[in-house]
Amino acid sequence: MHIEKLVVPTPFPVGPINLYLILDDPLTLIDTGPKTDEAYATLNSELARVGSSIESLRRIILTHTHEDHCGLAAQLARESGASVHVHEWEMDNIIAPDVTRVSGPLLERAGVPAGEIEDMSARYARIHNYAEAVESAVSFKDDDEFVFASGSLRVVHTPGHTPGSSCLFRESNRLLLSGDTVLKNITPNPILNRDPIDPARRFPSLGEYLVSLARIRSLAPTLVRTSHGADVTDFEEHFHRFLRHTSERQASVIKMVPKEGASAWEVSRGLFPGVKDIHRFLAVSETIAHLDQATAENKLVMEERGGVDRWVRS
Ligand SMILES: [Zn+2]
Repeated sequence: MHIEKLVVPTPFPVGPINLYLILDDPLTLIDTGPKTDEAYATLNSELARVGSSIESLRRIILTHTHEDHCGLAAQLARESGASVHVHEWEMDNIIAPDVTRVSGPLLERAGVPAGEIEDMSARYARIHNYAEAVESAVSFKDDDEFVFASGSLRVVHTPGHTPGSSCLFRESNRLLLSGDTVLKNITPNPILNRDPIDPARRFPSLGEYLVSLARIRSLAPTLVRTSHGADVTDFEEHFHRFLRHTSERQASVIKMVPKEGASAWEVSRGLFPGVKDIHRFLAVSETIAHLDQATAENKLVMEERGGVDRWVRS
């Protein structure tokens, strides 16, 4: 099984995305790049560089449904006839054209002012233009296998960055294609999402993410090929670095909670003063993730007041 990395530009602060082409039968592309002319042109030339083409794609597997990962899926499927595969928890994101990632009710519960929610929604609506809904897709779940002529890739469902985020694992040489779940120099944002099982609730993204990382650790991958930046060759060290970073961040989040208690929005404004644009959404997302995790660890207590969750120190 021969795997080629294709690097495609994105308009997002994260920079270019790494796509992986499995040069085997059926010819399979992991993630697609965003729906921009630059990404499409670069993908064409990257495929040509390795002696391939869009028309010869047979299968497209999405690690998750952020726009830089799934944006071109519809167009590539149209031009090649390839099937599109996505985790069952993110099926709606890829086939429903008007899905917005920013959930108003969840942000209201976090104490985000109405004007801010409107602004965040408008910004995400613009980002959503970098993806096109696919006509049909096939869902996969944890432990499913994608079979090739010379081997297979196993789905490892690793919720956290998004609820349906999934890695692909090649057992024979312990190679992991990690999507955004493991990145070399960036900590993936735990983004505020509805719980796929109970959409009225928040998805416990950080708690789930910690479990996912422990699961990856148990696979003992020797090489992790990531979606942004370099490979990770020392997962064990990466894992411990993340745990340290998480407990430091948790401590600073807890310190920001005043005696009388505060909403997630108030804590995030204290933690990340002066952040602008979409980073205000990412900041409140990360703050909620840490507050929920600290609550799960009995370090904070959450109480609801007038439809807003407030945290106090326990
Ligand atoms: Zn992502």
